[in-house]
Amino acid sequence: DAKASGRGTMRFFNPRMQQRISRRIHIESALREALESDQLELHLQPQVTQQGKVIGMEALLRWHDADLGQMSPGEFIPIAESSGLIIPLGEWVLQRACSLLSEWQQLPHMKDLTLAVNISPKQFRHPKFVPHILHCIRQANILPEKLELEVTESMLIDDMAGTISRMNQLRERGIRFALDDFGTGYASLSHLKLLPLYQLKIDQSFVKEITTEKNDEAIVQTIIALGGSLGLEVLAEGVETEAQMEKLKALGVNHFQGYYFGYPQPADHWLQELENTQS
Ligand code: C2E
Ligand code: MG
Ligand code: MG
Ligand code: MG
Repeated sequence: DAKASGRGTMRFFNPRMQQRISRRIHIESALREALESDQLELHLQPQVTQQGKVIGMEALLRWHDADLGQMSPGEFIPIAESSGLIIPLGEWVLQRACSLLSEWQQLPHMKDLTLAVNISPKQFRHPKFVPHILHCIRQANILPEKLELEVTESMLIDDMAGTISRMNQLRERGIRFALDDFGTGYASLSHLKLLPLYQLKIDQSFVKEITTEKNDEAIVQTIIALGGSLGLEVLAEGVETEAQMEKLKALGVNHFQGYYFGYPQPADHWLQELENTQS
């Protein structure tokens, strides 16, 4: 019985779990502070055409904490999502993105670029999401066509009808949707055709061994065919080598993103870089 097994066998809070929970709590409160004291940053990674022309950027959150060090969004975004902090955090990202687009409008070598922002499921389902985006666009006085929202298949799991309705409201204003990490989730083909998408982003896991793995090649071919028949742009993520790019090109991918073309860097870096190379 419980008494005989004693405290030592309590399954709930073993030291390892206790450590994980403490770290989570620490991250959550440090992130809240970072957001309030404006210590977060957006880095941008270029998206390019087959000809190597930069046509857009993806905004990726960066956070350096004095105690925790450089924090990966892969770790802190899920914590923000489960704590609710994702709502103010997501609003900050959107505000920042719209203000970047507004600056770019004045610059001949930047004004045509799109800017893609990652949206979490909880953020997308929040009742104020659509009005907040429309507010940001109006306030920054930018073209809605320049703002892309990256959503994932997980968003479709519950409240499919609500998801489609919110997407349509934004699409009607010109905002573009990309389906991120495509191929790793649960979206069925019948769902896909109901969504007002603009782009499919082939997940980097299919790109990694594209030059040697026939299975990955088959998946990429299928995604390209699907994109073609649904009238969607197809972009490959995580392209690190020339060989991967050549292979993807040969398969018919016409948009690329990855370390081969550029690492995520602060906006100012790209302002300079593109001024030198694209004007
Ligand atoms: P994602 O949206 O799929 O972003 C792509 C991730 O792959 C980024 O990681 C990027 O730095 C990395 N990457 C880009 N090119 C390459 C490459 O050639 N090779 C490899 N191995 N990796 C590459 P990062 O910045 O660590 O972000 C991880 C994830 O965190 C993102 O995945 C996205 O889901 C999420 N995230 C980042 N910023 C935000 C944000 O502002 N809001 C939300 N909701 N999620 C975000
Ligand atoms: Mg684009
Ligand atoms: Mg993304
Ligand atoms: Mg992705």
